[in-house]
Amino acid sequence: MSDFEKMVSAGQGLWSSEISTIQVNLGLQCNQSCAHCHLEASPHRTETMAWPVMERVMVACRKARCSQVDLTGGAPELNPHFKRFVTALYDEGLAVQVRTNLTVLSEPGMETLPEFLRAKRVRLVASMPCYLEENVRAQRGADVYAKSIAAIKRLNALGYGSEPDLVLNLVYNPGGPFLPPDQGELEETYRSELKRRFGITFTRLLTITNMPIGRFRSQLRREGKEEEYHYLLKHAFNPGTVSGLMCRHQISIGWDGRLYDCDFNLALKLPVNHGSPDHIDSFDAASLIVRRIVIGDHCFGCTAGHGSSCAGALT
Ligand code: SF4
Ligand code: SF4
Repeated sequence: MSDFEKMVSAGQGLWSSEISTIQVNLGLQCNQSCAHCHLEASPHRTETMAWPVMERVMVACRKARCSQVDLTGGAPELNPHFKRFVTALYDEGLAVQVRTNLTVLSEPGMETLPEFLRAKRVRLVASMPCYLEENVRAQRGADVYAKSIAAIKRLNALGYGSEPDLVLNLVYNPGGPFLPPDQGELEETYRSELKRRFGITFTRLLTITNMPIGRFRSQLRREGKEEEYHYLLKHAFNPGTVSGLMCRHQISIGWDGRLYDCDFNLALKLPVNHGSPDHIDSFDAASLIVRRIVIGDHCFGCTAGHGSSCAGALT
């Protein structure tokens, strides 16, 4: 039994209680190769979700009666079926959320994408790990800051970040092996700094803890800080985060149709287990809603401090 399982449930396991969101990984190709990426996405990755898998995802959404479909990647916009899939989900009456790195909006062929997203009332969750250029450059590479600011301005001009149903949330993650600060306080700083510097607005700031997996784990190992970071996460365990853990309320679908309890387990290649169906072809909402979750010591990344999920802090 892992230390996490002992602390979270004294060996009784962690169980899901609903599937309000289905998160869909459309592929691992990305126009960036960020230093902290837990999926090790890059322009060279070729894994991508095919249209027949997307059709089965839509069936699964109906069966699970989920309220939101959360599209991620890589850069989900680079999937060749992206617009067709978003349109089909919208026509089904599902709320669609897209996790965008912002810079993809300046890639060739993406010129009309913001207008398309607006037309489908797509909620956006956009990476913006700091309001300071040097910190963004260190994590995400040269030119990313300027392109991200230009993308937010473009989205603002369409009403994103100001109209109530055109949600534009920004995502902060730490620039190293430390926990995020208080989400509400940091949001106020982001709001005033981005307004003052560029006149831009956003809906909410979400703080997300760096998981010690993927490229971030490689970076920790290179710097000899992996053990220290694990110690930090474990000793910052907050029991108040457990009821809100995202794996208890959603499920993730990989580009090949495999089912995971969350995006981090997807990155670790740990599919749904404990007897629940683990592929979209055998999606069974009744058993997946109350499945036993596959957990390990990486899970301390979700329960440290204020907690962390794809929707930001948990407490
Ligand atoms: S963190 Fe996001 S933007 Fe960066 S390489 Fe990974 S998927 Fe792409
Ligand atoms: S890493 Fe995944 S499975 Fe583990 S606690 Fe976080 S959301 Fe749940």
